[in-house]
Amino acid sequence: MIMARSLQSNLWTLTEGYRRLFVVAVATLGVASALTLVVPLVAKYAIDVALERSLAPGIPMLAQLAGDGEHALFAYLMLSGAAVVLITLVGGVFHYLRGRATAEASEGLIRRLRTLVHRHVEHLPAQWHDGMETGDLVQRCSSDVETLRVFFAQDLVEIGRGIVLLIVLLPMLFWLDWQLAVVSIALVPVIFLFAWLFFRRVQQVFTVTDEAEAAMTACLQENLTGIRVVRAFSRQDFEIQRFGVQNARFRDLTQKLIDLMAVFWSVSDLLCLAQLGLVLMVGGAFVADGRLSVGDLFAFLTWIMIVLHPIRMVGRILTDAGKATVSLGRLAEVLDAQVEVADRVEGEVALSGAFRIEGLTFAYPGGAPVLSDLELDVAAGETIGVVGPPGAGKTTLIRLLLGLYDAPSGTIHFDGIPVEAIDRDALRTQLSVVLQEPFLYSRSLEENLRIGRDDAASEEITTAIEDAALTATVAGFANGLGTEIGERGVNLSGGQRQRLALARALLRRPAVLILDDALSAVDAHTETHILERLAARRGRQTTLIVAHRLSAVRDADRILVLHEGRMTQFGSHDALVAVDGPYRALAAEQGMLDVDGMAAPMRDATRQD
Ligand code: ADP
Repeated sequence: MIMARSLQSNLWTLTEGYRRLFVVAVATLGVASALTLVVPLVAKYAIDVALERSLAPGIPMLAQLAGDGEHALFAYLMLSGAAVVLITLVGGVFHYLRGRATAEASEGLIRRLRTLVHRHVEHLPAQWHDGMETGDLVQRCSSDVETLRVFFAQDLVEIGRGIVLLIVLLPMLFWLDWQLAVVSIALVPVIFLFAWLFFRRVQQVFTVTDEAEAAMTACLQENLTGIRVVRAFSRQDFEIQRFGVQNARFRDLTQKLIDLMAVFWSVSDLLCLAQLGLVLMVGGAFVADGRLSVGDLFAFLTWIMIVLHPIRMVGRILTDAGKATVSLGRLAEVLDAQVEVADRVEGEVALSGAFRIEGLTFAYPGGAPVLSDLELDVAAGETIGVVGPPGAGKTTLIRLLLGLYDAPSGTIHFDGIPVEAIDRDALRTQLSVVLQEPFLYSRSLEENLRIGRDDAASEEITTAIEDAALTATVAGFANGLGTEIGERGVNLSGGQRQRLALARALLRRPAVLILDDALSAVDAHTETHILERLAARRGRQTTLIVAHRLSAVRDADRILVLHEGRMTQFGSHDALVAVDGPYRALAAEQGMLDVDGMAAPMRDATRQD
């Protein structure tokens, strides 16, 4: 596999396996372009033969074939016509082969680039994604790749065609008449310079138009994603107007671009016609002088017309090349980012669920410490509650356990193995996390569950659903497990989404189950059901419950109270409410203390017996 280090240095490596196709494309292009130039040559001889009513100025081979009978002249012209058809046919075959080779090479190359970028992005650390906007990344993976595709599929061929035409044509022009040859290319540098300068000037308008399009798309995307919010707040008119502004701006800029292009083509047409006129004037004089045949003049005019088109395109191609370089740079930026290192330990490690945190202090890059000197020793099968105000560092602790961010070396151990030495995939398959707002796919319930484990038996699915208190919900759907849940699970309630994510995590049979405020949208009755089911798994799986509602953690073996990244209290619910402290204050706030300040039997009130 190609290593995703610096793209620029790897562009060559990226073409591996396609180079032969590119060579075929260039070769077939060369032949096809050369054949295009031969047609006017055959016509030139035919014209001269017809005008002089003699085979003398004709192509010797055709003249020989035409013989010397009374119809020789007619036969020569017929043969010339047939030759033109034949050459055009052969040229067509080469054009077709060139098209196939270019398409196969450029599309294959771009597919490889897309795969490379996508694969790389999938393995970039969470920290890198924090600093990158999703929209920007999507643009890099789609538009920037598309710019390169256009460059490889179209522009590269146009450059090749232009070069081949010039290389083949110049000697032929000079061979026919060097003075007229000089006249024929007199304005070419001017046409070239004009195209180049023009496209350099309008590149800015191109960029602004691209940005306006991106802004319009972003506006539309945001609007569609948040369509429910828009409806709920009756913001349709506001949003329609906002989109209208972006839409109008894009229209204005596109119109400006079309105006500019119209100016370009007019001036460029004028210059090309001036060049043709020049050839006609000087060539015509030469014909009148008798130093040039009419056929020669015809060939000159046709060749000039053929070759002017790619020269006019040069400016455009140079602009595209500029854009392609920018896109390449943007992709290189992604590909140069360091991926997470996998395979850090040989062989699979089966985790028991026991872990130990020692002197853990952690700060996000450029920030103050979010966790300070944290100590925690958890035995396999224990249930640990984690509570604390928002911003206390609970989520950060989970991210460090999952290896999403790197904890300082030696501060977290699973079964005595430092977390940084455990293969990340192995770690993340054995630690299952359920988020407060889980990500669900717009597929069926069953497919969403099976993301936990593809090969789960149907009884296991039944158990997971039961444990996550989802049985009644599934039974309530006409299609049961086959029910489609809509984009991100919009057809489910918040609580149902959380329970589905929990079932998915349980199906994985993790060594450590982590609930990150994952029962917040579940009613008290259902929460009790789930906690009881989780308690029944005690000993088989370590459970970490992060919660705001103390009802979710009161049955935990021990509860960790975090405040500004520090552990302020640690113990069982009963022990913690017995002493004055933040936990007791929280319990009082949530009505979990009776009038004497002792733990209230709230559990019994909500339990379903
Ligand atoms: P909790 O889960 O307890 O609400 P967090 O762990 O999410 O707390 O956040 C702890 C602190 O870390 C907060 O001050 C938050 O602003 C900061 N923080 C969280 N995520 C990031 C991040 N990706 N980059 C920088 N700072 C972060």
